[in-house]
Amino acid sequence: MNQAAPLSDDLRTLYQDIILDHGKRPRNFRVVEHHTCKAQGNNPMCGDRVTVTARVNEGVLADVAFEGKGCAISIASASMMSEALAGQSQESARALYEAVHDLCTGKIDTDQAKAKVTPALADSLDKLASLSGVRQFPVRVKCATLPWHALMSCLDGQTQTTTEK
Ligand code: ZN
Repeated sequence: MNQAAPLSDDLRTLYQDIILDHGKRPRNFRVVEHHTCKAQGNNPMCGDRVTVTARVNEGVLADVAFEGKGCAISIASASMMSEALAGQSQESARALYEAVHDLCTGKIDTDQAKAKVTPALADSLDKLASLSGVRQFPVRVKCATLPWHALMSCLDGQTQTTTEK
């Protein structure tokens, strides 16, 4: 597996600011009204627990939100996910999940991640790239990807997910 290059200090600082902002003031920290799916994600390695709710209407994620407790990375990831995906199709959501997953595990860099998603979501990847700093830390990768696993479970009609799988 090719590892993406380490981050520069400037980028690392910018990324930390984004994560702290979303970690302290998470967006869409609530339960979606009239949600059509709900799934909980647990990351026992860190103690993160997030519950993702979404309302899917004719293949489009009309609303995405989350609640839970966790470290700044898991909460920031959930917050950015909810912002990025509102109004997007399920296919776009899955593509973004894969891009974020590969970005966080260091398989691809930000530009490669942008190439995997629709232009409407490429801008969101500039923020989501802040999560890529976790790539050196396997436990943190699970924090960052937890809400995404939960959302995928939600869309697949499952109610539980853990980072063990
Ligand atoms: Zn965590």
